[in-house]
Amino acid sequence: MVHAPPRPAPGLPPVRVNLYSDTQSLPTPAMKAAMMAAEMGDEQAGLDPTVNALCDRMAKLLGKEAAVFLPSGTMCNQIAILTHCRPGDEILAHHTAHILTSEGGGGAALTGAQITGLPGEGGQFEVAALDAALRAKTRYSMPQVLVEVEQTANIGGGTVWPLAKLRAVAEWAHAHGMSTHMDGARLMNAAVAAGIPAAEMAVGYDSVWLDFTKGLGAPLGAVLCGSAEFIDAAWRWKQRLGGSMRQAGICAAACLYSLDHHVDRLAEDHANAKRFAAGLAQVPGFRVQTPETNLVFFEPSGAGITAEALSAKARARGIAFSVMGPRGRACMHLDVDRAGVDEAVGVIREIVGN
Ligand SMILES: *Cc1c(COP(=O)(O)O)cnc(C)c1O
Repeated sequence: MVHAPPRPAPGLPPVRVNLYSDTQSLPTPAMKAAMMAAEMGDEQAGLDPTVNALCDRMAKLLGKEAAVFLPSGTMCNQIAILTHCRPGDEILAHHTAHILTSEGGGGAALTGAQITGLPGEGGQFEVAALDAALRAKTRYSMPQVLVEVEQTANIGGGTVWPLAKLRAVAEWAHAHGMSTHMDGARLMNAAVAAGIPAAEMAVGYDSVWLDFTKGLGAPLGAVLCGSAEFIDAAWRWKQRLGGSMRQAGICAAACLYSLDHHVDRLAEDHANAKRFAAGLAQVPGFRVQTPETNLVFFEPSGAGITAEALSAKARARGIAFSVMGPRGRACMHLDVDRAGVDEAVGVIREIVGN
């Protein structure tokens, strides 16, 4: 059985500090009140006023003509791939990209597209890597149709693509007749950390989306943006895949609430990430990647313990973080405060006997 993450073993204490993922934050009472007050209609028929308001706002926020509300970020990526590509097409993305590592092979299963993983530090690649991946346009080679970037790059350490690099990648793609897609699961984290508007970061990207269930703290929903023509085509895939909803305004209201109340506070998560990283960096043998946003990756093996073993021991004491191979990943979000960060660091120090 590899289909689901393991359920917590019975007898474990409740999680006090949940650094496992920013997806696990719970809607706040005020967010729930906004949901209860939402005006609703039939979303599938275009009649949900709250969904429509969210889509209008997101198109403006990301600087695109149109937007569509979808249940998840994965569906945004898959519908974007379905819309940009045909079977046999090639997508260029970093080798750690979510579309390549974490969507169940969706690009291949649904579109029939092949994703080629590019090398590069911190989940990002250089134009030189694109040059190296370029194929001659012959009947032997796959059509290369899409270049994808992740802002922030998740497995890369939550790194922020610099604006100049984003622009250079988009210009390269368009110069070679390819389209561009930005997986903006944590785009607002990038915008807040860099002090650059999200729309600026999305310039040159033909499609871009934002997830509301990461640091923004909504229970579900993501919005995919692009040209009016692109979103029209995306809507057909939404319908085909069963992503068209009904009174979805109850969820869109949470997303709107998060845009009003949970964007500026992402800076707190970034400060907490720095604090956590600084605390762990003092443990002898720990290697800690300096965080740029809300994710902290660390490798404890130099302290004589694997990330897996450390995570099990920490969990037994009410501290949760995730494990990715030799690394641990701690995620900051609105259910984790500074005291929680300090508690987590203290527990980890005690475990390694420091
Ligand atoms: C979480 C995530 C996704 C998928 O979003 P879901 O809403 O969980 O489906 C896609 N890309 C990146 C970079 C992510 O972190």
